Amino acid sequence: MQSLRWSLTLYAATIAPMEERTHFGFEQVSSDEKKDRVMGVFSSVANKYDMMNDLMSGGMHRLWKCRMRQCAAVRSGQTVLDVAAGSGDVALGHLKKLGASGRVILSDLNDPMLREGARRMLDDGHLPGRADCIQADGSKLPFADASMDCVSIAFGIRNFVDIEAGLAEFYRVLKPGGQFICLEFSKPVLPLLDVVYDTYSFHVIPRLGKWVTGDSESYQYLVESIRRFPDQQRFSRLISQAGFDLVRHENMTGGVVALHRGYKL
Ligand code: SAM
Repeated sequence: MQSLRWSLTLYAATIAPMEERTHFGFEQVSSDEKKDRVMGVFSSVANKYDMMNDLMSGGMHRLWKCRMRQCAAVRSGQTVLDVAAGSGDVALGHLKKLGASGRVILSDLNDPMLREGARRMLDDGHLPGRADCIQADGSKLPFADASMDCVSIAFGIRNFVDIEAGLAEFYRVLKPGGQFICLEFSKPVLPLLDVVYDTYSFHVIPRLGKWVTGDSESYQYLVESIRRFPDQQRFSRLISQAGFDLVRHENMTGGVVALHRGYKL
């Protein structure tokens, strides 16, 4: 018994601290636990995801995605990858811009979310070959180097265990001249907006989540993960460090959301 206790102490003192730690909202967890729990969050909300987006943002997410569509460097005949595609809003925007020819790949870690995306593609008349759904971790993409004309991601990257690994993968799969475009929650820059936004986020959103989906914890994670994500400047630096050039961002809704862009030259 004594030797078992010593072994456990030795394990805690040596092996356990070496395990990679990260954050899940405001909690410290291991990288594997974060990946599992992010999976759990999106499996839990998948069938109410679109409705909750409209409710939480008062429909604003449609305007943010509309601006993303305008700025996406997507042309007829291209191959476009939307990472963390979820229920497919961004992919549908790309398909409109592609016109008659070209292909959009929707990739997501989570099968229930990707199934929502696949259903929407089919409902909109986009068959496999034109819109393909591939389950994958955005930081380990199953695509060849320099195979994509544009890589987009909306409200996905803050859920990654390793953001830098994700950015490196986006850079790897882009063709030279290709664009990376990312929509993500960011840091409010208008006076007092942060106070109003914090009150709304921490007091209203988890209750709304509970009321609509029966799950307040997933929405508590959502607001905490937003606070943990790097602000506009720090995230821009990470994009540059991944190798992207001509990196810039624009704030929307006073910095609640930022649209980042960079190019592989
Ligand atoms: N892009 C969609 C949109 O804007 O409506 C969905 C965004 S949803 C908030 C976040 C998505 O990121 C979920 O579908 C989730 O499964 C996905 N996700 C989380 N971690 C991921 C990872 N490591 N790789 C790929 N997708 C991931």
